[in-house]
Amino acid sequence: MNFQNNTIVHLDLDTFFVSVERLMNSALIGKPVIIGGLSDRGVVASCSYEARKYGVHSAMPMRMALSLCGDATVIRGDMDRYSKYSRLVTDVIADCAPVYEKASIDEHYLDISGMDRFIGSYKWTHELRNRIISETGLPISFGLSVNKTVSKIATGEAKPNGEKEVPRDLVRPFLNPLPIKKIPGVGDKTRQLLHSMGVFTIHTLSDIPPEMIQHVLGKSGIDIWKKANGIDFSPVVRYSEEKSISTEQTFETDTIDIQMLERLLIHMTEKIAFKMRKKQKLASVITVKIRYANYDTHTLQKKIAYTSFDHILMSTTLELFRRLYERRMLIRLVGVKLGGLIGGVQQLDLFDNNDKMIKLYLSMDKIRMRFGSEAIHRASGVEKKEKQAEGRSVKKDNSRSVPLFITPINWNKNQKQFECFCR
Ligand SMILES: [Mg+2]
Repeated sequence: MNFQNNTIVHLDLDTFFVSVERLMNSALIGKPVIIGGLSDRGVVASCSYEARKYGVHSAMPMRMALSLCGDATVIRGDMDRYSKYSRLVTDVIADCAPVYEKASIDEHYLDISGMDRFIGSYKWTHELRNRIISETGLPISFGLSVNKTVSKIATGEAKPNGEKEVPRDLVRPFLNPLPIKKIPGVGDKTRQLLHSMGVFTIHTLSDIPPEMIQHVLGKSGIDIWKKANGIDFSPVVRYSEEKSISTEQTFETDTIDIQMLERLLIHMTEKIAFKMRKKQKLASVITVKIRYANYDTHTLQKKIAYTSFDHILMSTTLELFRRLYERRMLIRLVGVKLGGLIGGVQQLDLFDNNDKMIKLYLSMDKIRMRFGSEAIHRASGVEKKEKQAEGRSVKKDNSRSVPLFITPINWNKNQKQFECFCR
C-alpha cells in the first residue's frame, strides 16, 4: 500500500490550556495568559499568543517568562478540567471519523483516505472543525495532506485557528522554504548542529545525501531526512479507550490478608506505570479487578485526569480496591489495568509545582532502565517484616519524604536491601 496516496488530517487545539481557562473566564480573552507552576522553580506549560509576542514559550522557566511579560495573568493549571475538555473533543471526532488516533491531550490524527470518492476531504474536515468549535467552544486548527508529518507541519502553518490543505503535488513547494525547526522531532540540539553545517531550510536539508545526515545525527538522521522530503509511512494508529497496560496475579492459596493485597496492588501499579512511561503514554482510566475464591469476578473503574504519576495512580488503585472488596471473602486474584492511553510525558503535571517529584520519577526510572524494573520500588509496596529483616533502617526525618526501597544490582536473598528516603 502506498501511504503517500493517503489523506491524513492533523487536528491540534490552539493554546489548549489557555483556551479552556478562557471558557471559564472570558476576561482572559485577548490578554497575555501563562499556565504553569507558580513557584520560583515553576515552568510554563502553555501560554497565549499575546504572551508569545513577548518571547514567552512553553517549557520556559516561569521566572524568565514573567521578566519578559510582567503583565501576564499566571494560572496554575487544572488537569482534571483539561482532561474533561480533551475527552469532549475526542467524542466529537469519534462520532464523525472512520479512523482516528489520539496523539496527545490536544492532538488527533485522522485517516480519511478514500473519502474524496463521496465528499471533498477538505470540506469534510472543515465541517468537522466547525462542529468541534461550536460544540466545545475551543479554537482548533488542522492540516490536511498525504501523511502525518506533512499534515502536522501544515497545522503549524495554519495556526492560530486556521486550516491548511497541502495537496500531493504541492508537498515539496510547501516544505522547501520552511526553517528546519518546523520538522517534528527537530529539537534545539539538532537544529543548532544543522545550522552549524549551514543547513537552515528544509530544502537544503532534503538535498543532502541521507548517508551524510546519518553520519552527523545518527539513526534519527534518516528519519529527519525523510521528513524533510515529505516521506512518512507511519500509519494512523486507531485510538481505543480499551487499549491498556495491565497485570494480574493469582494466589497459590486464596487470601484475605488485606495489608498484603494492598501492598501488592501498589507494587503492581508501580510496575505498569513504569511500563507506561517507557512507552511515553499517559493513562486516564484505572480498573481494578478482584476474583473471589468462588470465581466471582468484580471490576471497578474510574476516569482520572491524564497522568503517568505513580502516586496518583496508586491512590486511585487503593481507593477502587477498598470500594470493590466488600464481601470479606477469600480472594483468588487481583489485577490492575491502566487504560485510555494517549501519547505524552509527565510535563503535563508541571503545574503541581513539584519539580522535586518529577526529578524523583526520572531518577527512579533511570535506575529501572539500567538495572531492571525491580531494581527500585516504593517501600509502601514492600512487606514490613521484610523491611525490618533485610532493609537498613534509615530514620525518616521529614513527613513529606517518599520512602524508597533500592535493591542492589545482582541482588540475592543473602544480601541486604537498602531503604532510603527521598525528599
Ligand atoms: Mg495544541
